[in-house]
Amino acid sequence: MDIYAHEPLGFDGILVHVEADIRTGIPAVEIVGLASTSVREARERARIAIRNAGFEFPQDRILVNLSPADLPKEGSAYDLPIALKILTKSGQVEDVPLRILAMGELTLEGNLRPVRGVLPAVRAAVAHNIHTCILPQENFEEANLVSSVRVWPLRNLSEAGRVLMALGKRVVPGRRTSAPITGTLDQIQDFSDFRGDETLMRALMVAAAGGHNMFLAGPPGAGKTMAAHRFPSILPELDMDEALDTASLYSLWGKTQAELIQRPPFRAPHHSASLEGMLGGSKPLRPGEVSLAHHGVLFLDECPEFRRDVLQALREPVEHGYVDIVRAGRIIRFPSDFQLIMAANPCPCGNLGMAGKTCLCSPEEIRRYWKKLGGPLLDRIDMRIAVSPPAPSRLIGSPRTSPGVFREKVLTARSRQRSRLKNACTALDNLRTNARIPPARISDFCAVTGAAERLFLSGMVSYGLSARAGHSILKIARTIADLDDCAEIGESAIEEAMGYRQFGEGDAVWPI
Ligand SMILES: [Zn+2]
Repeated sequence: MDIYAHEPLGFDGILVHVEADIRTGIPAVEIVGLASTSVREARERARIAIRNAGFEFPQDRILVNLSPADLPKEGSAYDLPIALKILTKSGQVEDVPLRILAMGELTLEGNLRPVRGVLPAVRAAVAHNIHTCILPQENFEEANLVSSVRVWPLRNLSEAGRVLMALGKRVVPGRRTSAPITGTLDQIQDFSDFRGDETLMRALMVAAAGGHNMFLAGPPGAGKTMAAHRFPSILPELDMDEALDTASLYSLWGKTQAELIQRPPFRAPHHSASLEGMLGGSKPLRPGEVSLAHHGVLFLDECPEFRRDVLQALREPVEHGYVDIVRAGRIIRFPSDFQLIMAANPCPCGNLGMAGKTCLCSPEEIRRYWKKLGGPLLDRIDMRIAVSPPAPSRLIGSPRTSPGVFREKVLTARSRQRSRLKNACTALDNLRTNARIPPARISDFCAVTGAAERLFLSGMVSYGLSARAGHSILKIARTIADLDDCAEIGESAIEEAMGYRQFGEGDAVWPI
């Protein structure tokens, strides 16, 4: 029997082959293969657990090897595979001709405790053609989310004999036909109670349709936070693979998964978030907020309050859709393909530009406030929108468009993009939204001609826009044309797209 453990390093992690050699000599157990203290402690836990589970611990010289040898190994999930290997090697349980993934922490009584990162471990096993897993009972549902695997739950080590005997006879455990999918969009707050500005609603729909990052600037009470929290309700639901990705990241983070969530994740970290909490890190290595928002939305409210290094470090995940963390000389990667929404007051006191209010901030204070956000991160945000508080009449009237209609339009525009991007180039299969079109392909997908071209060029000159701003405007215009069911980008789309680029160019950080 080939027993594998799993080291949760990065998104996929690495499978670890567990071998044991038992020979006569002075009784001792040695674990080799860069085992950390927590893994080396497995020999003590395994020794007592094996006895308390009704087996005998071999009074011989035992060498356990964990390979690849140069990979540092951490955590208590190695207890079960090491104990199983010792039991099969000493002939106390059946040595079945199978490759098995085993994970679990042992208590001294021989009971099994759940471990984190089970879902990515099972997915990694399946990728290596291992389709049998032995895991703690509490991790059963999570492992069972992967359809092509037989999962054997154990409450304690004494059940191992029975399970391995069943495996030897090729008994197949009863299992569900498919993983339960829950967490639909019906369960989150939608825009039915939202009375924000009409232009803000339209901008949110454009951002959702094209996957564009968005910056909302406006005074307190303009509905920025409320809008951001309702934003996922107009996004497409996750497909099976995306839902598995998200669940894997939450599992690595330490949250046991029992079901697949269809709605896109929404993360709104507090502005005191550390660099590690945002990007991932700590020990043992866990994904950060940018990865927990993968396939969903990352919302930074009151963004100038965030640490400057945290804000600027977001540039890599925003640009590439993944984040690299250097750990013990290795580069460890977590996916982080999220849509970014940032919100801020127009100035530190919040009154700048508000009718009937007086801003108490000095020009220098306002400049410093915006400078924190300027540069590389702001460059990667297509839509920058000034949000005004809604007109009083909107607070009492009912919304003109129902949230369901918004969502339908977004979904139609998304499927239009997807087929266009897919048909144009197979190498760009992963390119699913207009926001992700690389600069080199802008002219292929966002071509403008005639009057639209003239309007675009004159706008670029009169507003003094950079090439990057020009690309953003063309991509947003492409999305607007998709929403309006137009094959060509027209003048109105260009005009509307330029309206979503209201600040953040050069020194002119705020238009007022
Ligand atoms: Zn102010």
